[in-house]
Amino acid sequence: MVFVGKGKHNFVIVQHFCPILTQYPHIFPVVRAVDWFIRSFFCTFTAKMCNRRRLVFRPMKRYENYSLLAHNTFGMDVRAVLFFEYDTVEELRAFLLTDDFIHCDRYLHIGSGSNLLFAGDYKGVVMHSAMRTLEVVSETDDHVLVRVGSGYVWDDFVAHCVAQGWAGVENLTAIPGEVGASAVQNIGAYGVEVRDVIVQVEAMALDGSVRTFTNEECQYGYRDSVFKRELRGQYIVTHVTYRLDKTPTYRLDYGDLRSRVEACGEPTLQAVRDAVAAIRDSKLPDPSVLGNAGSFFTNPVIPRVQYEALKAQYPTMPSYPVSEALVKVPAGWLIDSAGWKGRSLGRAAVHDRQALVLVNLGGATGQEVMALAERVCEEVYNRYGIRITPEVNFISCD
Ligand SMILES: Cc1cc2nc3c(=O)[nH]c(=O)nc-3n(C[C@H](O)[C@H](O)[C@H](O)COP(=O)(O)OP(=O)(O)OC[C@H]3O[C@@H](n4cnc5c(N)ncnc54)[C@H](O)[C@@H]3O)c2cc1C
Repeated sequence: MVFVGKGKHNFVIVQHFCPILTQYPHIFPVVRAVDWFIRSFFCTFTAKMCNRRRLVFRPMKRYENYSLLAHNTFGMDVRAVLFFEYDTVEELRAFLLTDDFIHCDRYLHIGSGSNLLFAGDYKGVVMHSAMRTLEVVSETDDHVLVRVGSGYVWDDFVAHCVAQGWAGVENLTAIPGEVGASAVQNIGAYGVEVRDVIVQVEAMALDGSVRTFTNEECQYGYRDSVFKRELRGQYIVTHVTYRLDKTPTYRLDYGDLRSRVEACGEPTLQAVRDAVAAIRDSKLPDPSVLGNAGSFFTNPVIPRVQYEALKAQYPTMPSYPVSEALVKVPAGWLIDSAGWKGRSLGRAAVHDRQALVLVNLGGATGQEVMALAERVCEEVYNRYGIRITPEVNFISCD
């Protein structure tokens, strides 16, 4: 059973009850009703008694009017009405039972905030996972299955895999963010997407039940998954299981990755990781210096016939084949050739080395960045007839 005190000091008690809910999720509404009844009548008394007896309380990390400055790489100094961080699945489930959550106007689960743009203060509850577990669930001579908590820092996970000699994620070195979001976003870089190594994703629904999604059920696409579409906001990713190979297959055919790696001799996982990190350092602005969220736009996919017509007019326009009928055009090229590289609007700018990245020059609001993004989109459309859309999640303040 879960008892929650009022005001700042919330306590979750007798958490051993929660595993039963995992097995029998259909009794959740009954538990919630009983919990509400007990809290209404006995909450204050119970909390006092428990305090006096020093029962096994776990003070939840629950903060009101909380600054999200350290939780978004754009450097937006915005606040959330309530911020909640949990260490375990049980704590998360218990929080979903509280009035804080049940009666909140809106909620958002974040990772490191490296793909978010807050328009202003967030008038709701922001949740964050501090689950940083990593366990090997099975291992053969060829591969290893690793189950990782959603709050594990993505690049720490990559570093761990490389150190262990586990191949599959080394090309995804230095992508900011956490494990939970990797499975939502289907992160990708240097010819690799995380869906290539995801086996399954465990996620909690808002009623506390847990569902395991197979890779197929996640419906991965380019920077896309079912968690960003049909199931948006309905599930919280708690663990991701990855399959990593003990014998590396190096994927180096992207940009100057091969030449950089081979310059150091025979390829190794560490050499790939170092090369990717160096390339990224030379191209991308460091969010701790210049606020940004990486690529602001996704690369548009257009019909091949449209591309051929444009190519006749703009012979240097690059493309990557997607299928017989479709090609992908780099959004960075479109923005650059539309004259936006390095240009600013107010305190927001298009980065001067990487046109795909919008930056906060200092003190910009989310609205200012969005205004810049809209101008860029409009001019690209007027020039090429191609719509570019944001990859970054815009969080409105209404
Ligand atoms: C400098 C820079 C470079 C980047 N380079 C790349 C790159 O090369 N490739 C690439 O793919 N991306 C890149 N990104 C984008 C970003 O790093 C990824 O999208 C990353 O996965 C976001 O992780 P996060 O933990 O910060 O998630 P957040 O930005 O906090 O959240 C992203 C989305 O995931 C949801 N979410 C987060 N955690 C959970 C959870 N546990 N359960 C359910 N939903 C959740 C959020 O609600 C939100 O919709 C870059 C960003 C920056 C700043």
